[in-house]
Parts: sequence; structure tokens; C-alpha cells
Amino acid sequence: MSTIAVIGLGQMGLPMAGHLIEAGHRVCGCDVQEAPMQALQAAGGIACTSVQEAVAAAEVVLTMLPSGREVAQVLRQVIWPMKMDKTDQQPVLYIDSSTIDVATSRSLAAEAATHGWPMIDAPVSGGISGAQAGTLTFMVGGEADHVARARPILMAMGKRLFHAGGAGAGQAAKMCNNMLLGILMVGTCEALHLGEALGLEPATLAAIMKESSADNWALRVHPPLPGLSETAPANQGYQGGFVTRLMFKDLNLAFAAALESECATPLGSLARNLYALHLQHGAGALDFSSIYALLAPGSSAAEP
Ligand code: NAD
Repeated sequence: MSTIAVIGLGQMGLPMAGHLIEAGHRVCGCDVQEAPMQALQAAGGIACTSVQEAVAAAEVVLTMLPSGREVAQVLRQVIWPMKMDKTDQQPVLYIDSSTIDVATSRSLAAEAATHGWPMIDAPVSGGISGAQAGTLTFMVGGEADHVARARPILMAMGKRLFHAGGAGAGQAAKMCNNMLLGILMVGTCEALHLGEALGLEPATLAAIMKESSADNWALRVHPPLPGLSETAPANQGYQGGFVTRLMFKDLNLAFAAALESECATPLGSLARNLYALHLQHGAGALDFSSIYALLAPGSSAAEP
């Protein structure tokens, strides 16, 4: 049993904290909003009114914040200045599971080392449903011994862990994965829309493609039209799932990384612009598969 500070109790952080509590850990949580603090307390956690209070007695600190800006702010303004008296214990392990840009993640890991904090980046795949079910996939960057120490804690919230490499490697893997996912979803929408225009039933075309060379996760598990998969957000008017605003955020992170590394990502850039248009049409809070509506504005099934 460890004392774990969880900073950021949003759609992901709160259910993740719940699994840590279920696993027997003492969870000290902190959020700038009141409602998730009450929910944490109801789940058996300890609601702390400041990051300092949450971190003070922690052996492990986990952040699940919106972006690199909040993560850097919490670390630089609050956590690094704290003097942690851990002389006869192992140093506090810091895990960032937020999705943030690789450059910030690497800078923060370098800063963590100078402050004596072992740090890993451990962004997740699996979305809100994966966080609730405790089936997340962690993509981890950092030193092997730090990853080994984090493994049992992460596995209380997930089912798979990949050690992708050194600092920032987890964020890099997450970014590449989500860029491809964004592209695959647009391509899947395009093919299904063309099929409809050619008189094919979406279910028939989807069944054919799932058994053919175009099979992919967006088609098989998360299709953009209702009735093609039991769990698809399309069945519930695109509520829940992975919202367009977050897909756009991740494509922006990939775009920034491509600029920095002078890497051509033409389809990633195109996908980024398509999701930007979809966002401008008011679809930010809908699952990203709702981008079908951008390609087929007349489609009643996909109208946001
Ligand atoms: P969210 O907006 O629901 O939660 C973020 C929480 O952080 C909010 O409750 C907010 O009040 C809190 N917060 C902001 N600044 C804070 C501060 N300074 N101190 C304490 N709390 C603060 O976001 P989310 O959906 O939980 O996502 C969290 C991270 O996980 C993001 O980086 C996101 O990209 C990533 N992610 C999300 C999903 C998803 O499906 N939602 C999937 C994979 C990864």
C-alpha cells in the first residue's frame, strides 16, 4: 500500500484514483473544481485543498491534467519548490499520465532529475470507458528502474503497459498512435460515405471491409455510423467516447512535433485541419467519429 497524490480528478483522473483506492492505496486527490473532490471523498479518497497538501505525505505523485501548460505550472510553481524530507526513504516517484507535448515532457524529466525526483511519462489509451473499467493501456517513457517501480501502481488502473524508451517516449508513442487514429477515422468515414453513395448498406460494406485489407480499429470497434458495433458512441448520438476537442489537441501535438523534427506528416496535417473545421461546426464535445457529418452533411445519422 502506498500513499499516492492524484492531481487532476477529471473524467480520467477520478476513475483512475478510484481504482487506486480499490487496490488498497491511500489516495490524496486535488482538483481546482469542487465536485470531483467530493466524488473522491465518497469513493474513499482524501480530498486535499491544495497540491502541496496532496503531495506532502505522498510516496508517488500522479498528474492527470489537461495539457503541458497545467503540468508544467503544477510542477514548476508548486512541486519542485517543495522540500521533500525523504532522507531514509526512496525518493518520491512522479508519474505524468496527462497527454502533453514531447518537448515539455522531456524538459520536465530533466528538471525532475535535478530536483531528485524519479519521473516517468505514462500517457494512456482507452479513453473514459477504459479509465472506468480499469483497462487502460499505458505507454511509458523513462528509466527502466523507475518504470519497474511504477508498474504495480499503473497496473491497478490498466491492463497493458509498454515501455517505449527514455523520457518523453511514452508521449511520442501516444502522439503517433493518435495521429494515425485520427487519419484512420477520416478514411473510414470517407469509405463508408462513398459506399452509401454507391447504394451499399453501411453494415454490408463494414462487414466486407472488416474481413478485408481495410480492416482497422475505427471501423471494427469505433465505427462512425450507428448499428455497426455495440459499443460505438455513434449509437448514442456521439455522446461519450473520445471527444473531437481532445483529438484536435492530440493532432496539434503531433503537428508541433513534426515541425520541430522537420518530419513530413501530410495526412496528419490534413486530418488536423478537418478536425479543426469539425470543431468550428460545434462538434467539440462529441465523439471524434462524428466527423462523418463533415463529409456527409446531409446524413441524418451523423448530424451533430
Ligand atoms: P478533464 O478536463 O476532464 O480533467 C482535467 C482535470 O484537471 C479537471 O478536473 C480540472 O479541473 C483539473 N485541473 C486543471 N488544472 C488543475 C490544477 N492546476 N490543479 C489541479 N487540478 C487541475 O480531462 P480528462 O478527460 O480527464 O483528460 C486528462 C488528460 O488525459 C488530458 O491530458 C487528456 O488529453 C488525456 N486523455 C484523455 C482521454 C479521454 O478520453 N478523456 C483519453 C486519453 C487521454
